Parts: sequence; C-alpha cells; structure tokens
Amino acid sequence: MSLLPEVNSGHPEKMIGYKEVHEKLGLSQRSTDWGESLKRQGLDNLAQWTKAHDLPAITGIIVNKTKGSENEHSPGKGYFGLFDRENLDWPWWSEQIESAKNFDWESVLPTTPVGSGVVSSFSNSLQYILDNYEVASDERFSDHELAKYIRNNLPKQVAKWVEDQSRYELKGSPGQGVWAEVPWVSVIDRLITDTVQEGFYLVYLFDAKQRGVFLSLNQGVTSVKHHYGSGAAQALTARAKDLLARLGNLAGKFDAGPIDLSIRNVGAIGNLYEAGSVCSAYYESGSIPSDDELRSDFHHFMLMYEDLAAKDDRFFRNADSEDDEAGLEEEDARVLREHKRIERNRSLARKAKQVHGYKCKACGFDFEERYGAIGREFIEAHHLEPLAKLKGKIVKLDPMSDFTVLCSNCHRMIHKTDTVGDVQEFRATYLHEGYR
Ligand SMILES: [Zn+2]
Ligand SMILES: [Zn+2]
Repeated sequence: MSLLPEVNSGHPEKMIGYKEVHEKLGLSQRSTDWGESLKRQGLDNLAQWTKAHDLPAITGIIVNKTKGSENEHSPGKGYFGLFDRENLDWPWWSEQIESAKNFDWESVLPTTPVGSGVVSSFSNSLQYILDNYEVASDERFSDHELAKYIRNNLPKQVAKWVEDQSRYELKGSPGQGVWAEVPWVSVIDRLITDTVQEGFYLVYLFDAKQRGVFLSLNQGVTSVKHHYGSGAAQALTARAKDLLARLGNLAGKFDAGPIDLSIRNVGAIGNLYEAGSVCSAYYESGSIPSDDELRSDFHHFMLMYEDLAAKDDRFFRNADSEDDEAGLEEEDARVLREHKRIERNRSLARKAKQVHGYKCKACGFDFEERYGAIGREFIEAHHLEPLAKLKGKIVKLDPMSDFTVLCSNCHRMIHKTDTVGDVQEFRATYLHEGYR
C-alpha cells in the first residue's frame, strides 16, 4: 500500500513484479512459477475481493516480469478475465490503477488483523517435545499426555500450513503400544501412497537422544524391508540418491542424503529412516528457528514433494499407458498420469465404488451379470475433473461428487475424448443406440 504513490500507469516496467512481492512481504516460494506462487498465497483472493466489493482492481499494480511472455509488464490474463475484460485492455487497466491510487483503502481494511489472538507457536511445540520426551518415555505409555499431544495436537499445527487438505494427510506418532525411539509427524500425499509404509513423504523426525528434530523428505521403509531384508538400508540409500537427482536444483540449500538420528540399536527401524532421507533440514534443540522460518522450509519441502509426485512414474511404465499416451504432448501425458494416480488411490476408489455401485454409468455393463461370481463388485473408479483443469489447482476428492464408476471399456474410451468430466455427454455423443 505504501508503494502506491510511486505507481504510474504510464510506466508498467517500473511496477512491482511477482517475485519482488515475495521479497517485500517475506512470503515463501510456493511454486517454481512466481505468479502461480503468489496466486496460491492470496493474489487471486484479493482480486476477487475487490471485484465483489466494487473496489478499484488494485492487483493490477503487480505485473508479470517474465521476459518474452505475452503479458510481460502487465498483469496476467486471469486479472483481465476476472473483470470481464479482454487481455491487455490498456485503457481500463490504467484507469483502475489511477483510481486505486486515489482510493482511501484504510476505510475498507479491518481495524484488527484477521486471525489475531492467541496463536500457539510450532517452534515452541517442537522444543516442548524435545524437552519432555525422555522423561515421558520412562512413564506409562497409554493415555500419556505427551503421547496424545504428538498424536493429535502436533499434526494439527502443521496442517495449518497445508493448503490442499483433501490431498495431504497428516499424522503424528509417539509409537504404537510403547514409546517409539523416534517419534514423528508425517505429511502424506494420498495420490502417492496411503501409508507411511511405502512411497515417499515428508516427516518431522525427533532424534532418539532428543538433541534436535529433522524435517526430512523420506521414504516408506516397510515394503522395502520386506523386499530387501538386511539389504534394506542400502536399497533406501540408493533410492534416495535417485530421488535427489530427480529434484535437481530444487534441493538447493538443504542437506542431501542420510541423517543421524542417534539410534541405539543397529537394525532398528530408525536406521531405515536414517538411510531413507532424500533431503533434510535440521533444527537443534535450544535454537529451533521461528515459525516463519519453519514454515518457509516446510513450504519448500512441499514444493519438492509435489515435484517428485509429478515425476513419479512407478505405475506407468507399461504397454497400456503407452497406448493411452500415444500422441499426447508431454504436459498432457503428465496430467493423464496424475489423473490415473488419483483413481488408483485404494481408499478413494473403494469409497467411490461403494457410493456409486458396480454398474457402468455409461453403458450399464454389470461384471457380475456377465461373468458371474468373479465379476462381483468389479468396476473402475473414474475421477471427473477434466484433465486440463487440474494443474496447480486443489484436487477435489469427494467420492460422491468428484468420482463415478465405469466399465473397463468405457473408461479407456472416455479418456480419448474431450468429455472426460461428463459421462452423460460421453454417452450421448459416443455410445451407439442399443449400447446406452
Ligand atoms: Zn461401460
Ligand atoms: Zn479415469
């Protein structure tokens, strides 16, 4: 707001860029695209707010500074679109900037900051556990206050930093039945895995001697242990290197490779957490950083997690997917893989089938009717969000409204059409009479 007087609609090249807003407001980077990152942190909401309240479109003072882009030195297309203007409508835009400069913004801003009041600090919570865990772990485990705190309270504090709550699941564990040597709080992308036992995820791991806590991009260890036995640690280290290489520069300033959790017994599960770390940040007891810094690190780790998720192709190297992806641009192929990943999430697919039943919604095919007992409760879950709209958006995962069920044929076919999100339309357009 204090910069407003310096803004001049005749000189867009001097206006403030997406990246500069991050620096000026101390925002963390939430996407590799600065504009997208700002969007996620309220630029869109602010624009919508001005529209809803008939105020000057002030977000027009923030411009795209990406060299050579269509909207270089102007706000993005979304800005003009929101106000029902053609892209790059100069006269309207400069008019909005001038009236934003002359407007009395104090009169519409709330007098007390939104969300003020008692806020518990995550930094203090981490220190609290480091200070009390050792004593607690000599006491009775069941119903212990600290165990409850780690299980219930701590994940909620991290959850406040997670934007897409239907996609990411938070869990805290002080151990099962007995105190764990290494208590943790994890963030799991439900599109990657249902459990911390496989895939990869983010986790806060407390050192066994309570000397500090790591934020680690780590791997599920149970299934690796099952397949590799005593070679599990070695396998995890190798995988960690591979994942790190996929991240490229994104891992940046953070520590690469294994971590030291001061595990007492060789062969304990904690040794596998140590080996499984792809990349980590360490916070030492007594000097845990402020919440601002913790949150900024956390968002960067989320960014890395998202990046690896998008590149994750474990399920998709087979002949079927090559068929389905033939002729698609790389970006579209990536979105299709994401879509299939959603549908492969076991718990979501199961719920979708429970609510929609086991008959194909397009052609009415019933596996049990045709094949008898082996076809019982067989059907495929299909996610209804159109492919092109998914990128950068919060993924809606309501089994009732965001999914339907299709037989295997209709499912393969609907993905070849532009009516991926509309089964009625697909029926009407593609299914011959007699099959509908
Ligand atoms: Zn069908
Ligand atoms: Zn589908």
